[in-house]
Amino acid sequence: MTDEKINDVKEILSTKKKISIVCHRNPDGDAYGSSLALYHYLKNKHNVTVISPNDCPNFLKWLPDEDKIVIFEKETAKATKILENSEVVFTLDFNALHRTGDLTEKVLQKINPTFIMIDHHQQPEDYAAIQFSDTSKSSTCEMVYDFIANLGDSDTINKEIATCIYTGIMTDTGSFRFPSTTPHTLRIAANLLEKGADNAKIYNNVMDNNSLNRMKLLSKALDNLELLPEYKTAYITLSQKELNQFNFEKGDTEGFVNYALSIKDVVFAVIFIEDKQQKIIKMSFRSKGNFSVNEFARKHFNGGGHTNAAGGRSTSSLKETVTKFLTILPTYKSDILQSYESDF
Ligand code: 5GP
Ligand code: MN
Repeated sequence: MTDEKINDVKEILSTKKKISIVCHRNPDGDAYGSSLALYHYLKNKHNVTVISPNDCPNFLKWLPDEDKIVIFEKETAKATKILENSEVVFTLDFNALHRTGDLTEKVLQKINPTFIMIDHHQQPEDYAAIQFSDTSKSSTCEMVYDFIANLGDSDTINKEIATCIYTGIMTDTGSFRFPSTTPHTLRIAANLLEKGADNAKIYNNVMDNNSLNRMKLLSKALDNLELLPEYKTAYITLSQKELNQFNFEKGDTEGFVNYALSIKDVVFAVIFIEDKQQKIIKMSFRSKGNFSVNEFARKHFNGGGHTNAAGGRSTSSLKETVTKFLTILPTYKSDILQSYESDF
């Protein structure tokens, strides 16, 4: 975060502004955590609204002031008006406007506020006047912490802000276990505990929030798990029928792909989830080491993300999508096999 950009932000925020904070569609802990943290930071001096393209899973419904978020999909006219009247729009945890989904993207394309991006994904698009983009960061929440600190306002980080930031760091780092967790990340986490974040409670709210249906769906997912040892790859499929069988609710499949990645020697894991409503197959890709699922998802499945975690989609059937994946896989065999070597 260069002094120049921080000074530009200081200048913008020196007078009261109408501000919107927008996160990506299908918001996760980092999207909501960073948006609400920034909201709590700005709300005393500015007129601020958080707008989410669609609603969040239940496991985020406890975040401070989550209920004040305007859901674009549900309150389209209101959200559109707020965006049209905004002088400043922060876009958090994404770097390409299409990540907000068709409805929200259309409005973001036609308005003309000062866009400020804070994000840690690869290959940012060029829509923001002020762009804080850093792929080395564990999470957008970590960047929001640095953003507030660089503005000289660490003292204003209260329990609400600390709780929101801690949540996003925790969820994006897989509870501090992914390689994206740095000494700086952990120092921030320590500071957040001092500011009042309750790590045990936050973990409980987010992670120990399972319904029996979700557990049964997990059992189905594990039943469908396929291992391809010659490619150090494992994948899971879930059809819409299977999701319906267990009364699928948004967020229920979160983290399932990590069970495939947790198999000994597996370095590449995928979950294919059928969505009959959107008429797509949604995919989550995970890897260990330097095999880039971002590039894989970008090249073959209209997606992207990070080196070790990315998403994608296909408009073919579930079966055809898996077949396409299995056809492509051999061309990546050497990249996958060389991806990860453990020292211990
Ligand atoms: P997930 O698999 O948990 O949905 O997403 C993993 C990571 O990839 C997240 O950081 C998410 O923002 C990103 N991601 C997921 N789906 C897409 C997509 O369709 N396009 C892009 N560019 N990134 C995605
Ligand atoms: Mn994130």
